[in-house]
Amino acid sequence: MHVRFWGTRGSIPTPGRHTLRFGGNTSCIEVRTAADTLVIIDCGSGLRGLGQALTQGGKPVLKGYILISHTHWDHIQGIPFFDPFLPPANEWDIYAPKGLGQSLHDVLGGQMQYVYFPVRLDQMGAKIRYHELIEGDFQIGDLRVRTQYMNHTALTLGYRLEADGATLVYASDHEPFSRHLVSGKGEIRGQDRRHCEFLTGADLVIHDAQFTLNEYASKIGWGHSTVDYAIAMSREAKAARLALTHHDPLRTDDAIDEIVTNARDDQRNMLPALEIFAAAEGQSLELRGRDRAVTSNESTILNTPALATPLLLMAVKDPAAANTVREAAQADGITVLESGGVTAALNIARSVQPSLVILEWEQGDVDAVEGHKWMDVPILFVANEETVRAEKAATDWLIRPFSTAYARTRIRACLLRTACRWERVLTSQNEEQRLAVLHDLKILDTPAEERFDRITRLAASIFNAPMALISLVDRERQWFKSTYGLDASETSRETSFCSHAVASQDVLVVPDTFQDPRFSDNPLVTGAPRIRFYAGCPIFVGANCIGTVCVLDNRPRQIDTDTVGLLHDLAALAAIELSKPQAH
Ligand SMILES: [Zn+2]
Ligand SMILES: [Zn+2]
Repeated sequence: MHVRFWGTRGSIPTPGRHTLRFGGNTSCIEVRTAADTLVIIDCGSGLRGLGQALTQGGKPVLKGYILISHTHWDHIQGIPFFDPFLPPANEWDIYAPKGLGQSLHDVLGGQMQYVYFPVRLDQMGAKIRYHELIEGDFQIGDLRVRTQYMNHTALTLGYRLEADGATLVYASDHEPFSRHLVSGKGEIRGQDRRHCEFLTGADLVIHDAQFTLNEYASKIGWGHSTVDYAIAMSREAKAARLALTHHDPLRTDDAIDEIVTNARDDQRNMLPALEIFAAAEGQSLELRGRDRAVTSNESTILNTPALATPLLLMAVKDPAAANTVREAAQADGITVLESGGVTAALNIARSVQPSLVILEWEQGDVDAVEGHKWMDVPILFVANEETVRAEKAATDWLIRPFSTAYARTRIRACLLRTACRWERVLTSQNEEQRLAVLHDLKILDTPAEERFDRITRLAASIFNAPMALISLVDRERQWFKSTYGLDASETSRETSFCSHAVASQDVLVVPDTFQDPRFSDNPLVTGAPRIRFYAGCPIFVGANCIGTVCVLDNRPRQIDTDTVGLLHDLAALAAIELSKPQAH
């Protein structure tokens, strides 16, 4: 994996004789894999130079992917000057965090409105596709990408890229969740632990390190890290190299040298060795990967949540903090329900199903934490730094004092992280017995047979549906004995609709998956085959439900009781065939 820095400066471009060596352009990194997949991380002013280099290469058509951490100006201001966006033959895919309001296209177009810039985003000739991300994994060509929210004043994603056996993590802009960690010392817990895990085993971590420890004291809540924190996280994550980036605009080349020298001196005898350097504009690196277990190749599907109107339930006594939360929620059109105390709030939560609960941490309020566990609703606790430091409970904190912008970011991250409405697998009570009966049939993984295909053909025809299946629900998967109109032999049980029918041992009809909280964010709904309608009837062998006959459609629809009766008939036919000896 080839990496080149085109911009390393934070906040604003700072050209001049004091920034010649590390560069004055804002964040932009070029990544290329062995298969020549081109990925650009962030579009600060460094993007202009990269664009020129790309067009000078003389390649007739350019195709590339752009990952934007967040849309603060220093991370997108290069876009209007990016030449490869002009030729109509070029194709670009832009990825950035999904917001709660404006679309990504509109946010990026905003800085190119007539009053700011002579050319509008839509007037640039290239084909540009926009993708909005939450936390998850996805694949770009031969690259596997993982995203995770950073702790910043705007909703920001870090990116973990894996290809050619090498791993690169980009973690900027980010501030330590727990302020005691700014010194790089102390136990790494909770959300900082999660951040650290995101960097695990990276060959190169490119990390926000805008401030020194001394400077940080007056920059709390600005959304940036100290050099010490970046080092501590990378070390704990057993990363091989750390590139300090997002250099403060006031930082001269000499000052950066001094920071690096001091950091190296501090770490000199520590093992395993961590190579520390400051990212410099123009610098190129080759990541070859180290000897370690190959990471799994399976790709999980990144869901775009179907957000209902979010409801925030809060019980915060501190008037200043409560007011800030209120303002933050209001800015994103989130409904706020307030309650006098923690216990009352948790009682209300049982009946109203909030999307997020914000509570003021009360000494020894074990109930609140326990409540957290059963409700499956994220809880943010408002507390002081000292409390957070002393409290062992693994929970999400909103550390006082906090700004409206910061509260907004945390609320958004919580909502988007948990907004996936999709109920996972249900297992039936007699699961082991059911599986034994299924396995005894010795039908799993056998070739297709006309006697079953006949049934799915009939099902599709009766329901005038494009897809029909005989689905057998195994321990970890649903395997299809017969498929009509679907090109798959099995899917994971986690996404299985039929599992629900099997667990309830009853007909399951989902007229419109978009409207059904059990399925609206199921990957089979948000992605191929884009199931919009489902009707499945259990197949029983003896008293055991082993699968279903089901019909699927890409459009929502209604079915009447008579038609459900026909589905019963088809399931009964399938059961008869299953209990016969194998034809081959
Ligand atoms: Zn920035
Ligand atoms: Zn920023």
